[in-house]
This record gives sequence, structure tokens and C-alpha cells, in this order.
Amino acid sequence: MIVSQLKEIKSQLPTNVTLVAVSKTKPESAILEAYEAGQRIFGENKVQEMVTKWENLPKDISWHLIGHLQTNKVKYMAPFVSLVHGVDSLKLLKEINKEALKNNRIIDCLLQLKIAEETTKFGLSEAQVQELLHSDNFKELKNIRIKGLMGMASFTPNKNQIQQEFENLKNYFDALKTTPNLPKNVTIETLSMGMSSDYSIAINSGSNMIRVGSSIFGQRNYN
Ligand SMILES: *Cc1c(COP(=O)(O)O)cnc(C)c1O
Repeated sequence: MIVSQLKEIKSQLPTNVTLVAVSKTKPESAILEAYEAGQRIFGENKVQEMVTKWENLPKDISWHLIGHLQTNKVKYMAPFVSLVHGVDSLKLLKEINKEALKNNRIIDCLLQLKIAEETTKFGLSEAQVQELLHSDNFKELKNIRIKGLMGMASFTPNKNQIQQEFENLKNYFDALKTTPNLPKNVTIETLSMGMSSDYSIAINSGSNMIRVGSSIFGQRNYN
């Protein structure tokens, strides 16, 4: 099942779109099945779970942390994480920078924008992103790199609304990308938007990285 679902999704993807297989709550055996079929990028939302899987699974897997991240957990993943999707504060960036430095690494991050209506979703406003990128503190962070933006649309059956939210994020992404004199640690390339229920809309709206879990691995019992 996993392999056929994965192949089905991959066959629909434009070549510029990267698939993050979201394996949170799923066993290592499920990840290995996808791995054997060629998948190398996996997304997790709990640091401890990601660390355990990283320890036990092949070392050429790229691990993406996709959920909300607490500063006290950063140190555990700093040795290996390849992209942190949900960064929403300078405080968190400072912590990632500190732990990246200890590990002699540069850690790639995406800033999370709040595009949904729901108050439960995390993320920065456009004004907060501008403020963050232009603060003096930010320029000092030599061990992180902002590679782009991430967003989650509202949980709604209204496809027009989802499309509108994704298009808003894409427009902001394009504007940011072409902003002159961005700090050296900013390279806007990646736009992470779209999950199982809405990745087609996201791709049509300009996403180049989708995070798909249940459509590959099946429904989760929790989370
Ligand atoms: C769980 C999760 C996903 C994947 O969700 P599915 O609906 O299973 O595809 C994507 N992004 C984030 C941030 C998640 O927490």
C-alpha cells in the first residue's frame, strides 16, 4: 500500500516539487518501505520521535522537522536535522543558531506564515517577518539560513478559501524573493505548502515543497 500510494503521488508531481513524506506516529518499518521505494525525505513533528528514527534508520535520510518546535528541544536534533519548517520567532532562531554552531553546522529553516483564519495555527504575519529579517540580532546568526517560507491553510472544505490562502502566501514569497539587500543568511527558494487534503491546490498556487502524510502512510490514530 505505502509503495503504491507513494508512486501514485510522485507520478503527479511537477519536477520542481519536493515531496516530504510525513511519517509522524508511523513505525520505522513503514518508513523503510518508502525508503526502499526511493523516498529519502521524511517529516516528523516531535523531536524525540525524530531522533529515535534517525538513530535507527539509514543515514542518507533527510529529516525535516515540520511541526511547532520548542526551544528546549532544539539541541537534540541539531546534529542532523536538514530543514526546520515551522520557525516563528527570533528566540527560536537564536537557539537553532546556537546549537548549529556547537555542531559546526548551518541549519536551514523556513519561516512559518500564518495564512489560515483559525487562531489555533502558529505563524508570523508579513510585518513580523520584515521586522525579524531586518533586526540587528538576526544578521549575527551565521549558523542558520532562511531558505524560504511555510504555511498551512485553514481546515475547511471551502477550496476557494484554501486556494486564496495559498495564493496570498505565494505572492508574499515572490515579493520577498525579489527584495533587494536581504541579509546574507537569507536565500528565498523553498515554499512549503500543501498536505494530503490540499497539495494539488497548493501546487497550482506555486508550492515547490509538499508535506504529505496520511495519503502515503494511511490515517493516523492521533496527531
Ligand atoms: C501532520 C502534518 C502534515 C501532514 O498531514 P497529512 O494530512 O497527513 O498529509 C503536514 N504538515 C504538518 C505541519 C503536519 O503537522
